[in-house]
Amino acid sequence: MSRVFNFSAGPAALPESVLQRAQAECADFRGAGMSVMEMSHRGKIFMEVAEKAERDLRALLNVPDDYAVLFLQGGATGQFAAVPLNLQPGGQAMDYLDTGAWSGKAIKEAQKYGPVNIVASSQSHGYASIPDSSTWKLDPGAAYVHYTPNETIGGVEFHFVPETGDVPLVADMSSTILSRPIDVARYGVIYAGAQKNIGPAGLTVVIVRRDLMERKSAGVPAVLDYALQVKNDSMYNTPPTFAWYLAGLVFEWLMEQGGLAGMAQVNERKARKLYHFVDNSEFYRNPVEPSARSWMNVPFILADDALDGSFLKQAEEAGLSGLKGHRSVGGMRASIYNAVSEAAVDALIEFMADFEQRHA
Ligand code: PMP
Repeated sequence: MSRVFNFSAGPAALPESVLQRAQAECADFRGAGMSVMEMSHRGKIFMEVAEKAERDLRALLNVPDDYAVLFLQGGATGQFAAVPLNLQPGGQAMDYLDTGAWSGKAIKEAQKYGPVNIVASSQSHGYASIPDSSTWKLDPGAAYVHYTPNETIGGVEFHFVPETGDVPLVADMSSTILSRPIDVARYGVIYAGAQKNIGPAGLTVVIVRRDLMERKSAGVPAVLDYALQVKNDSMYNTPPTFAWYLAGLVFEWLMEQGGLAGMAQVNERKARKLYHFVDNSEFYRNPVEPSARSWMNVPFILADDALDGSFLKQAEEAGLSGLKGHRSVGGMRASIYNAVSEAAVDALIEFMADFEQRHA
C-alpha cells in the first residue's frame, strides 16, 4: 500500500490506523455477519456504536450536560439555515461577523429568514485579518451572534472567543473543531461538517445548549429541527451510519494521541514550522495578518504564479497531494488537519525549499 501526504482541504486525510481498522471490520462487523453500513440504525449493535461515539466526543470536548450533541446530515451548509430557523423565531436581528467566504455564505443563507446585522467585516482588508473587536457593532437585542472561527479558504482563524454577553454565540467550527481544547460553555451552538477533523463527508455534528431549543420558528424542516432531533437521538430520520461509525473511530484515535491537548501541541508546532519557513523565504508568501493565521489551513502564493502548474505537478510526483488553493483565490493551500502528520509537514517544507532553490 502506498499513501501520499494529503493536504486536501476537505474531504481530507483520515488517520491510516482508522482506515485499517474500518477495513478489518468491514465485511463482518463485530460478529453481525454484515457490515455496519448494512444494519439498522436502531439495532443494538449500531446503537452501541452511536452512543460510544457521542460519549467519546463529549469527553474529548468536555461537553457540559446542559448541551445536546447531534449527528445529522446536510453539512455545515444545512446548518447555515438551521441556525436562523431554530434560534430566531420572531424577526429579531441576527448578528454575523463577516470574515471570508464561509461566513459570507452563512450570511447569505440567514438573510432568507430575517434581518442580518453585519457586526464587522474584514472585506476591505481582503479578508486577511480579524476585525479589531473594539470596532464591532454588536446588537444587544440580537437573537444570536454567528462567526466562523476558522475560514478554510482564507486561512484566517480567531485565536480568541468573541465576547457577546447574554447573546448566544454560534460557531461554524467545520475546519477547526477538535484541533485544540475549547470551552463549550462559551457557546450557544457549535456546528461542523465532518469532512476535515471528524470523519467522512455526510455527517454534521451540532452541539446545542438545551435551553435554546425552545425558540424555533413554526416552519423549521424536521431534519433541521434541533429539538425534534434531540428528542429522537439524531434518528428522526436515518442518520449517516457509516460516517457516524468512522467518526467514532477517529474519536478513539484522538484519545490515543493524548486528546485535544496533545493534538493542540502537535498542531501548533506544525503550523509554526510552516509559517516560519514561508516567512523566511523570498519565494513564498502568506497574505494573512500573523495574529489571525490558521493552524489548519495555510494558503501561500509563489513569487511567480507562472510556476503554479509546475509546483503542483512536481509536488504530486513527490507524493504531496491536494495543495492547489481554492478556485476562488488561486495559489496554494496546505490543509494540515489533525490526521496530517508532522512528517507530512516536514516533507512539504523540504519540497518547497528544493523547488525554491531550483526556480528562484
Ligand atoms: N463552513 C466552513 C468553514 C467550511 O470549511 C465548509 C466546507 N469546506 C463549509 C462551511 C461547508 O460545509 P459543507 O460542505 O459540509 O456544507
